[in-house]
Amino acid sequence: MTIKLAVLGNPVAHSLSPLIHHHFAQLLGHDISYERILVEDDFATQVRDFYLAKALGCNVTVPCKLQAYDLATELTERARIAKAVNTLKFMGMEGDKLQVLGDNTDGAGLFLDLQRLNCPLANSKILILGAGGATRGILPDLMRLPAQSICIVNRTVTKGEDIISYLSTQLSSSVNLQVSSYEELTGTYDIIINATSLSLHKELPKIADEIYQQAKFVYDLYYTQEGGTVFTSKAQALGVKHCYDGLGMLVGQAALSYQLWTGVLPDITKTLAYIRSFGRH
Ligand code: NDP
Repeated sequence: MTIKLAVLGNPVAHSLSPLIHHHFAQLLGHDISYERILVEDDFATQVRDFYLAKALGCNVTVPCKLQAYDLATELTERARIAKAVNTLKFMGMEGDKLQVLGDNTDGAGLFLDLQRLNCPLANSKILILGAGGATRGILPDLMRLPAQSICIVNRTVTKGEDIISYLSTQLSSSVNLQVSSYEELTGTYDIIINATSLSLHKELPKIADEIYQQAKFVYDLYYTQEGGTVFTSKAQALGVKHCYDGLGMLVGQAALSYQLWTGVLPDITKTLAYIRSFGRH
């Protein structure tokens, strides 16, 4: 029987998720359908209608991740901590209430990709640029790393402070956490993760060249099909050897969603290569 899946959000026309999930299914010999559903009306009703059409689950993207969190009747630990859900798995009806498991695979997706790229995480000093939804999703996983320190720099400093004070109540971590403004940012960092939305607008964060030059590894959550962003290009030009965009994270979080639905974790490397090459033929 065909496994029925989708991504819900607004916009969704650009989403690579159908391509990624169909490729996973092809590699695994599964029969799936994976559609894009534009959320224009009531999110909960659209999710319920999709379930009633015999779906197994769905991904949820911007701006519906908080609504998905509210809709879930059960949460994984990481979704509970992130207070945002990007994956729903339907578990049937109880009376007229849809039972749904909510998960958040963003942070673990990044972690899978950092492992794939042999990112030198042990005892590292990590700088995260940005304190939006993506940072909230990835920080709990980063706080479990054998890292030495994590510094969040954000335009709105209070947002970084809020994230850290909230997570400190949820997780015990030996990682030293700090927050800074761009103006006051000092120190050296081994790993820089750009979790701002600046690359989308081809803009760069206001950090000194020396901060790039001292880094060993640079990762931009934003992605392009070719694999470079303005941020990774800048870092490369300043001599950073290991610079990556976030397409591997996108495929990683998708693989973990697929595992939640089917019980099988797909091969990220093969699908990543396929997505990079897609459209070039
Ligand atoms: P949000 O809108 O929640 O947060 C945006 C962040 O960028 C905020 O920290 C914001 O700062 C900062 N920012 C925006 N404009 C500026 C500016 N002019 N100067 C300085 N800082 C700025 O977005 P998300 O957190 O959801 O997403 C961030 C990025 O991560 C996006 O590029 C997105 O595509 C990518 N992403 C990639 C994923 C993947 O799988 N690869 C998954 C999720 C996200 P402030 O708080 O001050 O407004």
